[in-house]
Amino acid sequence: MDKVKAFFILLALMLSFIACDKRKPFIVVKDPDKTVDKDSCGHLNFHYEKQEGCDGQIYPDPSTSEYILPFRKGESYLTGLTNCSSSYHAPDKPDRYAFDFNLSEGNEFIAARGGVVAKVVEDQSSEGGGAGNYLVINHLDGTYAYYLHSPKKGIYVKKGQTVQQGDVLGIVGRSGLAGYPHLHFIVVKGSYAWPYHSIPITFRNTLPADVIIKEHTLYMACNE
Ligand SMILES: [Zn+2]
Repeated sequence: MDKVKAFFILLALMLSFIACDKRKPFIVVKDPDKTVDKDSCGHLNFHYEKQEGCDGQIYPDPSTSEYILPFRKGESYLTGLTNCSSSYHAPDKPDRYAFDFNLSEGNEFIAARGGVVAKVVEDQSSEGGGAGNYLVINHLDGTYAYYLHSPKKGIYVKKGQTVQQGDVLGIVGRSGLAGYPHLHFIVVKGSYAWPYHSIPITFRNTLPADVIIKEHTLYMACNE
């Protein structure tokens, strides 16, 4: 009888631990090198099988992707919400293929892909509702990337400017609909006007080498 009791107590403890873990707040990793093994960058092994997103669109093969993670090589950050998760990233929302990267307030973010700056909004309050401060880059193939939540005057580039992949674009903040500082990144197709049509994308330099970036997971930007 005691053994049975002990088993149930243990089970209850385990379940409460799991439940607590799910409620953990977003954590910014200050010393990322400790948790992602940089050496694994040399042989990124993507298991690509034409994975589908929540609306049936196919993810492109990461090994030939046009995109790198929108933060500096060697850095790593946790994701918040990612594709087809919840809230604004839910499967029925225009932002279903968005990624939240939990860079700290003031950290610089970079161009995941080159193009021409199509729009810059940087005169909004550093904290507040609406879209907040953001920029849009035209990739010149009918797709556009959005980078959202910068603080007021937190964007380094101007409309019409050509940017190369890896160029620093601005700093991360929490303007607009952001509950905490992070970069909300999304690629859309056809037009960047709301409500846009977002598309699934992959990153060719991500470690772990996931085809579909998971939520609440630590990712490092590898050298290519
Ligand atoms: Zn987001």
